[in-house]
Amino acid sequence: MSETAIRFREDLMTWAKGEIREYPWRAPDASLYEVFVAEFFLTQTPADNVADVYPEFLDEFDSLATIDESHEDELVAAIEPLGFHNMRAEALKRIATNHDELPTEPERLRSLPRVGPYVANATLCFALKRRIPIVDRNVVRVYERVFGDAFPQSDSAREAFAEEMLPATGEEARTYNLALLDFGALVCHKRSPDCPVCFASGYCEYAVGLAEDQ
Ligand code: SF4
Repeated sequence: MSETAIRFREDLMTWAKGEIREYPWRAPDASLYEVFVAEFFLTQTPADNVADVYPEFLDEFDSLATIDESHEDELVAAIEPLGFHNMRAEALKRIATNHDELPTEPERLRSLPRVGPYVANATLCFALKRRIPIVDRNVVRVYERVFGDAFPQSDSAREAFAEEMLPATGEEARTYNLALLDFGALVCHKRSPDCPVCFASGYCEYAVGLAEDQ
């Protein structure tokens, strides 16, 4: 692991102490199901929008069994404010029909309808404090900027890179992954990264390149 990687990990963990956002699904005692529902919705919907409907959704559908017993129209109506409601309701209904409990093996969880590697890994890391990497487009953007060509191109190599970046314990990995998501959303924005206030500006390849061009 490079000195830059070690430094970024340490700096991000320090940043996490004051900056991680609080949402109901991030509560330490949130269940596997509660975290899964949030991550399932968060793939295509901003967190603040999910937060608006999340409590009511859990009040109405507190388990896979409740979803299984419900009429699909009720499920569609509950998800409608988030968009993609028909597709999401159909997928949740299929999951609930075929599973009493959510799988806790990454491969089985990611094979469920409309559940890809990101949702599966985020759910297991955040709910069960597993030391599992998460790689979505925001994580890719941050790592590409900070590490430049040292961040690999293939999906499998990126997942291995992200796993190596994780701190030693599952609890720390959970904090690191949450911080990475929030850092990408709050500082290393897609269009205009806040390099002047960023802890990584002295060694981030993107920021150093910008400084050299000026
Ligand atoms: S210095 Fe800029 S580009 Fe690099 S990680 Fe920070 S915000 Fe992102």
